[in-house]
Amino acid sequence: MRLKSLELQGFKSFPDKTTLYFDEGATVIVGPNGSGKSNITDAMRWVLGELSSKNIRGTKMEDVIFGGTEHRPAMGFAEVSVTFDNSDPDHRLDSEFDEVTVTRRYYRTGESEYLINKEAKRLRDIHMLFMNTGVGREGYSIIGQGKVAEIISKKSEDRRHIFEEAAGISKYRYKK
Ligand code: ATP
Repeated sequence: MRLKSLELQGFKSFPDKTTLYFDEGATVIVGPNGSGKSNITDAMRWVLGELSSKNIRGTKMEDVIFGGTEHRPAMGFAEVSVTFDNSDPDHRLDSEFDEVTVTRRYYRTGESEYLINKEAKRLRDIHMLFMNTGVGREGYSIIGQGKVAEIISKKSEDRRHIFEEAAGISKYRYKK
């Protein structure tokens, strides 16, 4: 599968609907300090099911919702969607669709929603969809600032998850 796009709305510093398209090859995002570059990786981590607000640089889950500025009121919910091209027969997500869009929505009231191709799902379904692909919550495809040091210095039991995911056996361990 191939990453196609990421859409943010009401997520951290992105109150307006913003879509990033990822073409073949490398995509680079540049901007001054504090302009919101890391918020984009936070959004990616979050839509894939991240549950720890600390891992997305917040203290509580509500911190993902646009908090308002002097000129613009705070928003009531945050929504992020990630779309993958799933048409490569050799590297498919476990889904019948040739394009898979995963959406996560979180309301200030504390309610959460997960969708796969606009159909309501449980977090567990999102977790299962990406397991063994290296992409999901346990994946190693998002290597943030400081993550390399964390990988080599973590407890061996934690490090094992990374290798099991890379070897493609974490799904079977989870099922067992
Ligand atoms: P650096 O280069 O310093 O790492 P960056 O470009 O990665 O910075 P981020 O850390 O992604 O920038 O963005 C920080 C900005 O996002 C800050 O201006 C912060 O006020 C804003 N921000 C974070 N959460 C929210 C929120 N919930 N509502 C509104 N703005 C937010």
